[in-house]
Amino acid sequence: MLDTPSNRPKLPAEIARRRTFAIISHPDAGKTTLTEKFLLYGGAIQMAGQVRAKGEARRTRSDFMQMEKDRGISVSASAMSFDFKNFRFNLVDTPGHSDFSEDTYRTLTAVDAAVMVIDGAKGVESQTQKLFEVCRLRDLPILTFCNKMDRESRDTFDIIDEIQENLAIDVTPASWPIGLGRDFMGCYDMLNDRLELMDRADRNKIGESIEIKGLTDPKLDELIPADLLSKLREEVEMARELLPPFDQQALLDGTLTPIWFGSAINSFGVKELMDGIGTYGPEPQIQSAEPRKISPEETKVSGFVFKVQANMDPKHRDRVAFIRLASGHFLRGMKLTHVRSKKPMSITNPVLFLASDRELAEEAWAGDIIGIPNHGQLRIGDTLTEGEAIRVTGIPSFAPELLQSVRSTDPMKGKHLEKALMQFAEEGAAKVFKPAIGSGFIVGVVGALQFEVLASRIELEYGIPVRFEASQFTSARWVSGDRQAVDKFVNVNKQHISYDHDGDTVYLTRLQWDIDRVVRDYPEITLTATKEMM
Ligand code: GDP
Repeated sequence: MLDTPSNRPKLPAEIARRRTFAIISHPDAGKTTLTEKFLLYGGAIQMAGQVRAKGEARRTRSDFMQMEKDRGISVSASAMSFDFKNFRFNLVDTPGHSDFSEDTYRTLTAVDAAVMVIDGAKGVESQTQKLFEVCRLRDLPILTFCNKMDRESRDTFDIIDEIQENLAIDVTPASWPIGLGRDFMGCYDMLNDRLELMDRADRNKIGESIEIKGLTDPKLDELIPADLLSKLREEVEMARELLPPFDQQALLDGTLTPIWFGSAINSFGVKELMDGIGTYGPEPQIQSAEPRKISPEETKVSGFVFKVQANMDPKHRDRVAFIRLASGHFLRGMKLTHVRSKKPMSITNPVLFLASDRELAEEAWAGDIIGIPNHGQLRIGDTLTEGEAIRVTGIPSFAPELLQSVRSTDPMKGKHLEKALMQFAEEGAAKVFKPAIGSGFIVGVVGALQFEVLASRIELEYGIPVRFEASQFTSARWVSGDRQAVDKFVNVNKQHISYDHDGDTVYLTRLQWDIDRVVRDYPEITLTATKEMM
């Protein structure tokens, strides 16, 4: 998505002020706490703690949600909008568990930047690394927040080195911590030549900000104990010598990440980070699409579905499609064309996800995320436009790595199972394959936990008890190529053939050897491990 030639026209102010981003982190690094503080400073909630409280209220709605909570994973998607200074922030939540990596990948197709949160004592952890790799695939700009500086943390140079080495990205300090652990008292803001001091007594109070004139300013001697001050001067001098300077273009290119040090729970460093996202972060970017790219400043509205969430409230069978607007100024009631079916859709009840609650979206601009309640017409990867047949690209579907067959343990309910499975397939929660021979279904997922989640959702949301069992297959590949060649291939390999929820042909096998043989024996067909959602 990131493709910003330097001669691009200036964006309309409403679009230019939007910053759409996600937070990537390892569980426990402080993503939830940081989100709360974002919302607090964004004026969206009155008191920190509400995100969690709200999250818990939502989760107690069903045992499935309880299970999600127990496992510390977040399956429910959300996007939150709030204002900070002149900026409109759209924060898109990424599911936290590695089992949901495909979902996460798609979420990251809807943002222009990511904030990477790391724990100052733990550095780069496994999940951070994985999510970072996904961002790298798209050259997403990354801003880093090193959290929990109020606790014992690692040496500042160590942390920066670890990021540079493990993630192969340049790091430039946006701020520098003064004292570590119990001595931590704040940061020197290296971009604005200011001191930010932490108030340990009041966690919701924004710390003091003191203008200074460089690190030789005599004011510093009054504010900082001598030993900490001399260490600060020494380290900042070294940092300026050894580390790359801040460079906005390098940030936007995804080759340099600025790092802020802070403590989310003490509201410290959060405002500076938000300032950084606003001032240096990317505006809504050009979206890759076929047959042409979409620019945010185009006056006609377009957008794409990156996530579908079904049964957000089990009592109402509603589904919400999350749309990232790629261009234009959307107004409630607009008629848009659903490009896949070529049918018009009146968007009468779009929602904006303000932190306080869902709200009717009267208007939205390129860069915003809106939710469209629907009955299943909208699927992941779908494009909506004002009529032009344009299709957003780059939202892939991955071949599942685990396959199991599924059947209902209540024979009376067997026929409803197909409907439930198809819905989950459309939501992107699993791949569902209908074998060409025989009855039943094969379900494919990326992480084993997803079978459990699915089984409990099918039971809770559809009242169908199901059992997953080992299947004879372990790999799935989409089959494409010349129609005749595919037909010939299908006829000869019927026992390996199935169809996904779009009706596309899939080859199932348990042996890599089989795949190699097909590649060798059928040069006119192609087997792929990903398919573009459309
Ligand atoms: P998440 O799993 O990444 O969403 O992390 P949370 O925001 O839930 O935080 C994990 C734990 O770390 C919680 O117990 C938080 O209270 C705690 N925490 C978050 N930020 C800080 C911080 O700045 N300092 C300290 N000491 N603890 C923090």
